[in-house]
Amino acid sequence: MSEILVLVEHVDGEVKKVTLELLTLARTLGTPSAVWAGPGITPDAKARLAEYGAEKIYVAPAGDIVEYVVAPKAELLAQLVADKSPSAVLVAATAEGKEIAGRLAVKTDSGVITDAVGLGEGFVADQSIFGGGINVQSKVRKGTPIVAVRPNSTAPAPAAGAGAEEEISVALSEAAKAARIVERVKQEKGARPELTEAAIVVSGGRGVGSAENFSIIEELADALGAAVGASRAATDAGWYPHQFQVGQTGKTVSPQLYIAAGISGAIQHRAGMQTAKTIVAINKDPEAPIFELADYGVVGDLHQVVPQLTEEVKKRK
Ligand code: FAD
Repeated sequence: MSEILVLVEHVDGEVKKVTLELLTLARTLGTPSAVWAGPGITPDAKARLAEYGAEKIYVAPAGDIVEYVVAPKAELLAQLVADKSPSAVLVAATAEGKEIAGRLAVKTDSGVITDAVGLGEGFVADQSIFGGGINVQSKVRKGTPIVAVRPNSTAPAPAAGAGAEEEISVALSEAAKAARIVERVKQEKGARPELTEAAIVVSGGRGVGSAENFSIIEELADALGAAVGASRAATDAGWYPHQFQVGQTGKTVSPQLYIAAGISGAIQHRAGMQTAKTIVAINKDPEAPIFELADYGVVGDLHQVVPQLTEEVKKRK
């Protein structure tokens, strides 16, 4: 079977869920090899990568790989593409992953597909384009297919791989060292899942009415084990922090379930959420555009509907 490189996303030595999804997806198309950039791989992390099917784990432990912004990871992958001739490279379609994918494509003179929400035989990708307005099938025709896949596109499933480790040393170019990371600010890890990775997202918009009222959105999110999102109207009003904004100028999410409460469904909001598998809209206006997109819609006042929904979810737990 052909080798498929999967760039590992990791934080504090922990493998992120999206990587397990990519390994699972890669197994349907070839033999996955995980690529760990930077120091700090732990026995637990190795075991996790093998558990989800990594036959090989390429580890590039040099500290300077993570000292500079993005470019070294693209150089590491370019070196591996030259040395191992994989049949494809998969990265997560996060802000960093997409930039790595673009740089890698230039370095290897290959085609790149970003925002894939599925990948099938012959590396034909289902891709969400033009801000999520159109879905197309795309295929790379030149070089090594480089595909950035959105989190939550595949359900992660374990299937043991050998997890054979190979250390890689990479000589970084001067260009890769152009932008150095001078400080890392640790984000408080709350009890909720990370927005872009969450399987369920509950978002509130202008209809929520105030910062205090966002507590009903949070309560539903917590009952479901979900992340909280917000429309730009809500973040601009200062009701919820900007880091939770979903949409064209916010985060892109692709969860299994997206609940939009008091959100009209403007094109810029849709751009960040319309590849969600199931969309539920709660809005008091039956003509709200979000209902064109929703799989399930509730016409009603969210201040009544959301707490009732939360109660019902809690009862069923
Ligand atoms: P509104 O459009 O005001 O809708 C509020 C909805 O709540 C209405 O449908 C109303 O019927 C309903 N409602 C009111 N009260 C209740 C109630 N009690 N119960 C139930 N429903 C109720 N927007 C984003 O979200 N993300 C982005 O990243 C983004 N980027 C943008 C980039 C650009 C360049 C521009 C120009 C705009 C961008 N916007 C973005 C803004 C976008 O165009 C909309 O203005 C915004 O999404 C509207 O937010 P909203 O749906 O919460 O508010």
